[in-house]
Amino acid sequence: MLLDGVRITASNRSSFMGDNGTTSLLILQDREMNLERIERSLESLPRERESIQKKIAAFESEIEAGKQRIKEMEVRGKAIETEMGEVENQALKYKSQQLEVKKNEEYTALTHEIELAEAKVSSLEETELELLYKLDDARETQAEDEAEIKEKIEMESRALKRLDEKEINLKSEIDAACEAVGEAESQVEKLPLSIYRRVARGLKYPIIVPLRDAKCQGCHMRVSATVEVEARKAKEITTCDNCGRIVYWDA
Ligand SMILES: [Zn+2]
Repeated sequence: MLLDGVRITASNRSSFMGDNGTTSLLILQDREMNLERIERSLESLPRERESIQKKIAAFESEIEAGKQRIKEMEVRGKAIETEMGEVENQALKYKSQQLEVKKNEEYTALTHEIELAEAKVSSLEETELELLYKLDDARETQAEDEAEIKEKIEMESRALKRLDEKEINLKSEIDAACEAVGEAESQVEKLPLSIYRRVARGLKYPIIVPLRDAKCQGCHMRVSATVEVEARKAKEITTCDNCGRIVYWDA
């Protein structure tokens, strides 16, 4: 397919390429790739944001879990105090009952109950004391952990903010990038453009690639001698006979 008469603007002209439209197509491809990069970055933002928010949520629940552990210890402490009060009251009741009993064995039985209650109280006191020490430790550790975790949350929040800024920048870039694509497209002659569009279907960038050592730099396969010669002449748009990409001679 000869493309004689296809002209590109002087500013787009490259010394090693002919007038087959490759230069203007390369500019178009470059701008399209830039636009795609911006679009991809924008698309990936929600995912990036979500992963940061998940991290923050995990950190927050770590703090919450620590607080919960302390709360549970406090509740246990209160339960011990309540139980202690009950046992003490019981002991007092036994003591007042002792004043009223007549029989010796009843008196002895109550003495035994009182001893049991007192033993129970002192065991509860011990448990409570142990718990208070643990609670002190836990509160201290929690304060340290919280400070550390809050710092991490702060860091992630800053990352979120940077993403917001990135989004603003990308959104402001995208209009200019679209415009640049349109402008580059208007510089490409109809025929090379239609070949480019056709080749681009089902292919990932790059769509136009150089030939180096007779190898297509898209699929890295050796092209046929005919393709090589045509690319060297640069009179028409030449495509790789393996992957279909447009190839140009890159000395
Ligand atoms: Zn190829």
